[in-house]
Amino acid sequence: MITYRSTRGGEEGTRASQAILKGIANDGGLFVPEYIPEMDFSLSDMKEMEYKELAYRVMRLYFADFSKEELQSCIDGAYDSKFANDLIAPVNTAGDLKFLELFHGPTLAFKDMALSILPYLMMTSAKKEKIDKDVVILTATSGDTGKAALEGFANVDGTKIIVFFPQNGVSEIQKRQMITQEGENTCVIGINGNFDDAQTGVKNIFADLEFREELDKNGYVFSSANSINIGRLIPQVVYYFHSYSQLMQDGTLEEGDTMNVVVPTGNFGNILAAYYAKQMGLPIGDLICASNSNKVLYDFFQDGSYDKNRDFNITMSPSMDILISSNLERLLYYVANDDAELTKDLMDQLQKQGKYDITSEMKENLIDFYGGYADDVRTQEVIKEVYESTGYLMDTHTAVAYAVYEDYKADRSDSTATVIVSTASPYKFPSSVMDALDSEAYKETDEFELVDKMNDIIGGEIPKGIDGLKTRKIEHDIVCQTNEMAKVIKEFLKLV
Ligand SMILES: *Cc1c(COP(=O)(O)O)cnc(C)c1O
Repeated sequence: MITYRSTRGGEEGTRASQAILKGIANDGGLFVPEYIPEMDFSLSDMKEMEYKELAYRVMRLYFADFSKEELQSCIDGAYDSKFANDLIAPVNTAGDLKFLELFHGPTLAFKDMALSILPYLMMTSAKKEKIDKDVVILTATSGDTGKAALEGFANVDGTKIIVFFPQNGVSEIQKRQMITQEGENTCVIGINGNFDDAQTGVKNIFADLEFREELDKNGYVFSSANSINIGRLIPQVVYYFHSYSQLMQDGTLEEGDTMNVVVPTGNFGNILAAYYAKQMGLPIGDLICASNSNKVLYDFFQDGSYDKNRDFNITMSPSMDILISSNLERLLYYVANDDAELTKDLMDQLQKQGKYDITSEMKENLIDFYGGYADDVRTQEVIKEVYESTGYLMDTHTAVAYAVYEDYKADRSDSTATVIVSTASPYKFPSSVMDALDSEAYKETDEFELVDKMNDIIGGEIPKGIDGLKTRKIEHDIVCQTNEMAKVIKEFLKLV
C-alpha cells in the first residue's frame, strides 16, 4: 500500500488518511507519496469515463487506505450539482484556443475543485483514524481560499471552520461572498491588518501548545485547509486527465498525442498537479508556468535561483500575489531525485536568507518547465484582444496564462495542442476585467453593478454564487485586531 513521507526526510510510512489530517509533516516538510503511481487505465478507456469515475480511478492510486465505498462516497458528495456544469471541468473552445474552465464550482474559482472534496476526505480520515474530536479548520485567506473552504465545510458534521481575512485587503465581491456565508459551524472574521498578519496569526495559534491542550480538553482538534495538504493536491490531478479526454473527443488530439498546459501560478499547487499527471503517464509535453509581476518563479526557471527578497506587488490577479510558493518544495524534492536532505537544506536557506540556488543536475531535471510572466498592462491588453477576436471573456488570472502562452509560442515556434487553465470566472473580478474592455465607460461603477453590465455584454446566466450577492443577509460582522485572534476563536468555540 502506498504511503507518504516528508520532503525533508523526517517522516516515513504515513498513511494517506494521517497525512490528510495532519496537513504538514512534523519536520515542517510536505507529504509526498513514496512514488508517483502509473496510470492503470488506457487513454481510450478514459475517453468513456465521466468526471467522477475518472476521479475515482486516479485518486484510488494515491488514497490506497480508503475503501472503494469510502472514496466513492467522498467523490459523490463533492462533484454534484453544486457545480454549474455537468462536465465539472469543461474545456471551452474559443477560436483555436482551448480553455480548461475550473471555475464552475460554488465560489467561481478553481479552489472549489479540491476544497469541495477535502472536507469529505478529512472526515473519512478522522473516522478511519478513530479521532473522536470535532475538527476545527483554521484558515487565513487573501480571498479565494476562504470562501471555497467555507463553502466546503459549512454544515459538515463534526467540523467548525474559522476564516480570517484582511478587512481592507480583498475585493468587494470576495468580502461579500465570505460575510454572507450561512452555516452554524462557520465563523468569518475581518482583521485590521494585511494577509501576512492574518497568516502569521494563524501560524502562531497552531504553534501555541497551551491553546491546543485547552482545545483538546474541550473535544476539539485543529487542522488546516491550505494548499499544501495532500488532500488538496491529488484531487487536482484528475482534471488534467479529464481535459485530455475532452480533447480526444473533439478531435484535437489523437490517442497518444502530446498536450501542453499553461497554468496561472501562485502557490504552485495547480501546475504541480499537472506534473503528477505527466509522471503518471498522461502525454503532457511542456508545463508552462505563468506568473504576474511577482515573478519569483519566472526568475527561478530562468537561472535556478529562488529569491524572495524583493518588493511585493499588489496586482489585478491577487490570487497569484505570492513570494513564497509553498508547493515548489515538492518539485525540488523530485528534481533532486528524492534527496530529502538536499531539499531540507534548500528550505533552511530559504528560511534564513530568503533565497537558495539549486544544483546544475536539479536544473537539468526542470527541462519540461517553461516560465513566463505578464504585468497588469499586458493582462488587460490580452483580455480585450481575446474578447474582440473570439468573444471569450477571460478573468485576470487566466489572462496572465494566455499572455505567457503567446510568448511561449513566439519563443519556441511550437504548435502543440495546448490547454490554457482558466482559474476564475470573469464575474469574480469585474472591475479589472471591465476596465480592460473600456477604461472610460466603467470608471465610477461599483463592482456589483459591473456584474450586471458584464452580463449585458456576454449574456448567459449570472452564476449562482454571485447573483443577488449585494442584497444577501450579512451573517458575520466581527472585526478584530491581530492580537485578538485567539480570543475570538475561544468565544466562537465557547471556551470562555
Ligand atoms: C489560487 C489561485 C491561483 C494560483 O493557484 P496555485 O495552485 O496557488 O498556483 C490562480 N488563480 C486563481 C483564480 C486562484 O484562486
